[in-house]
Amino acid sequence: MTGHFKDNQTIAKRDLSVLWHPCTQMKDHETFPIIPIKTGQGVWLEDFDGNRYLDAISSWWVNLFGHTNPTINAALKDQLDTLEHVIFAGFTHESAIKLAEKLVEVTPTGLNRCFYADNGSAAVEVALKMSFHYWRNLCHNPGQPKKTKFITLENSYHGETLGALAVGNVPLYKETYAPLLMDVITVPSPDCYHREDGESWAAYSSRRFELMENTLRDHAETVCAVIIEPLVQCAGNMRMYDPVYLKLLREACSKYNVHLIADEIAVGFGRTGTLFACEQAAITPDFMCLSKGLTGGYLPLSAVLTTDDIYQAFYDDYQKLTAFLHSHSYTGNALACRAGLATLEIFQQKNVIENNHNLSILMAQVSERFHDHPHISDVRQTGMIVAIEMVKNKHTREPYPWQERRGLRVYQYALSKGVLLRPLGNVIYFMPPYIINEDEIRLMADVAWGGIQQATRD
Ligand SMILES: *Cc1c(COP(=O)(O)O)cnc(C)c1O
Repeated sequence: MTGHFKDNQTIAKRDLSVLWHPCTQMKDHETFPIIPIKTGQGVWLEDFDGNRYLDAISSWWVNLFGHTNPTINAALKDQLDTLEHVIFAGFTHESAIKLAEKLVEVTPTGLNRCFYADNGSAAVEVALKMSFHYWRNLCHNPGQPKKTKFITLENSYHGETLGALAVGNVPLYKETYAPLLMDVITVPSPDCYHREDGESWAAYSSRRFELMENTLRDHAETVCAVIIEPLVQCAGNMRMYDPVYLKLLREACSKYNVHLIADEIAVGFGRTGTLFACEQAAITPDFMCLSKGLTGGYLPLSAVLTTDDIYQAFYDDYQKLTAFLHSHSYTGNALACRAGLATLEIFQQKNVIENNHNLSILMAQVSERFHDHPHISDVRQTGMIVAIEMVKNKHTREPYPWQERRGLRVYQYALSKGVLLRPLGNVIYFMPPYIINEDEIRLMADVAWGGIQQATRD
C-alpha cells in the first residue's frame, strides 16, 4: 500500500517538495525534519524508520480514544458500505439524525437544535452569524435594538477564518490579518495565572468578572453575543479560570439581553473533567460550538447546538426571508456523523468520565515535581489538561524571549525520546487520549522533565 514510501528521509523530501503545512515556517524543516507517520495505534504513532511516539497532545486535541480505534473503525467500515455522503439540503440520513439526537441529549438542558458544519472555525462562524441574524429577524418587531457587535476575551482563540479570527485575541494569529477583521469589544481575561499570591481561582475569576459586567452594561444595546472558551483558553497557552465566571456571565447575558456563545471546540467531550465544561457552572449557553473530539479525532465535523427560542426566530413563511443563510458542501457528512456516534457510544459504554477522573489524579501526581523547578512559574490543571509554564525568572515570572524558542527545544528533545509534545510557546502541556495508561502517563511526564531540564540549562 505504501509503494515507494520506505524511510523517513526520502518521504520527507517528497513532502517538502510539494506540500505546505499549517502553523509552520516551512524553512524550519531545513533544520528540523518533518516526520512521516506510517501507522497509529492507541496512543502510539510510528514513523517509517520504526520510531514510535506517544501522542501526548491527542494530535492537536482531537483524538479521544486512540488511533485506529476498533469501535470507531468498525462503525466507519459499516457506514462506508451504506452511505458515504449525501446533499444535506432537502435530504437527510440516519447517522446525522442519530448524532443530533444524542448531542441534544448529552449537552446542557435547553440546547435542542443541532446545525452541522465541517470544522471548528466554521462552527464559530455559524454561531456568530446565527446570533446576529436572530437579532436582525427580531428587528422586524418595533423597538428591538440594532445589534451588530461581539464581545470577546483577551487571549481567546476561536479559529482562523476571518470571522473566527476577529473574535479571537491571540496576537500571533491575529495581528498580521488585523486590517481584514471586523471590530470587536475585548474584555480582560479571568486567566488565573495573574491572580494575587494566595488568592483563589474563584475569587480572582469573580473579581475579573466586574470588567465584563461593566462592558455588558455599557454596550448591551449594540452587542449580539459574548463568545467564550469555557474554563480553559487552550490556544492562548492553556490559561485557566474558575467556573464561577461562567455562572456570572450567564446571569449577566440574560440580564442584558445578549447571547452567550460557548466555544467548547477544544474543551468539550471530557477534557475538563465533565463531558462539557459548561456543566461545571450548571449553565446553558445560547449556542454551543463543538468539533475536535466530536468524531474522536477521525474526521472533520462540527456542530452548533442552540435553543428553541433561537430556532423559532428563523422559522416562518418563505416569503418573510428569515431563513438562516449558511451552507457547506460537506454539511452533515455521513462518515463523520457516524464517527461521532461511535465516539459517543464509547463515552456511554466505557464510563469514560469516571475513569478520566482517576487519570487526571495521576496526571496531577506526576506533575507535582514541576512546581519546584527553578524555571517553572506555574503548573495548572483542569481535568485532563495539565500545563507547565516555563519562564526565565521564576520569581518575577519574566518569560524567556520568544526568539529563543525554548519550547521548540522541549519538542525536539521529547521526539528523540519517543513522545509527541507540542508546546505552545514556552508552555508545555499534556492533553493525551483518554486510553493512556499509567506507565504512559509517567513516560510523558519524565520526558517533559528531561526536555525542560535541557531547554533551561543556559
Ligand atoms: C481548534 C479551535 C477552533 C478552531 O477549530 P478548527 O477545526 O481548527 O477550525 C475554535 N475554537 C477553539 C476553542 C479551538 O480550540
